[in-house]
Amino acid sequence: PVEVTASPLRDDGGIRGAVVAFRDVTERREMERIKDEFVSVVSHELRTPLTAIRGALGLLESKALDSRPEQAAHMVHIALTSSERLGRLVDDILDTERLNASTTHFDLEEHRVDDLVAAAVEQVSVQANKAGVRLRPDTTPEIVRADGERIVQTLTNLLGNAVRFSPHGSSVRVSALPAGDLVELRVDDEGRGIPPDKLDAVFHRFVQVDASDTRERGGTGLGLAIARSIVERHGGRLWAISEGEDQGSSFRFTLPRVPPRPSGQLRPVRTP
Ligand code: ADP
Repeated sequence: PVEVTASPLRDDGGIRGAVVAFRDVTERREMERIKDEFVSVVSHELRTPLTAIRGALGLLESKALDSRPEQAAHMVHIALTSSERLGRLVDDILDTERLNASTTHFDLEEHRVDDLVAAAVEQVSVQANKAGVRLRPDTTPEIVRADGERIVQTLTNLLGNAVRFSPHGSSVRVSALPAGDLVELRVDDEGRGIPPDKLDAVFHRFVQVDASDTRERGGTGLGLAIARSIVERHGGRLWAISEGEDQGSSFRFTLPRVPPRPSGQLRPVRTP
């Protein structure tokens, strides 16, 4: 589409002519369309837990459950878990917006990959224990230039997903290998895998393989979109590989590599 604007050229005697401008607005319209779609999906996502909270509190207020304490307790549980979900959604939505604004500051420092992996494994360990999934980090001497907190966030997200979509008794492996002037990090699980036509789509906001994935498994649908933005802000790439159903998934990303030095103290990773 082309936008046409015209403005009159005047002098003392009146209108002398006009300046007509043609502007190609294809890109702007597309940006606006994406933004509108995002706003409508976000409001739907926010409304779902809000409706559950209202429903549960309404029932409690009506005293209809006064003689059924177990059901009343269940309603309180629904209201609580839904408000936690609402909180996570708001945090993640704000995070995607912040990452899109290129003004967000990244604290680039040298980090041992082992330290970053250990911090992420620690954050996911309770969830993994509950799910009966073993986290197996391989040690590596690699050093990367990265915002430690943001990379721990990325790894935590990938590990959390791997645990959520893996069966009891399986393992999730985290490894890193040098690839020229990059380090490639991998999170491999033995879970249900991702169909080939969804391998790229899962990185888009609110896209999931099964419609029930986010709600039943407690995610927000934004984790991989956030992870990809973080990695791309480091100049790296994040992608997924899966051989098919029940063949597991492998999430891989690259970061700038720092050649190893004989000694030298690296800053510890700060975690929230
Ligand atoms: P969610 O909060 O829904 O997990 P994500 O952006 O983290 O949002 O992931 C998007 C979707 O990708 C998930 O809903 C799930 O369908 C799929 N997915 C992500 N990680 C895995 C994995 N390790 N195994 C199988 N499917 C996965």
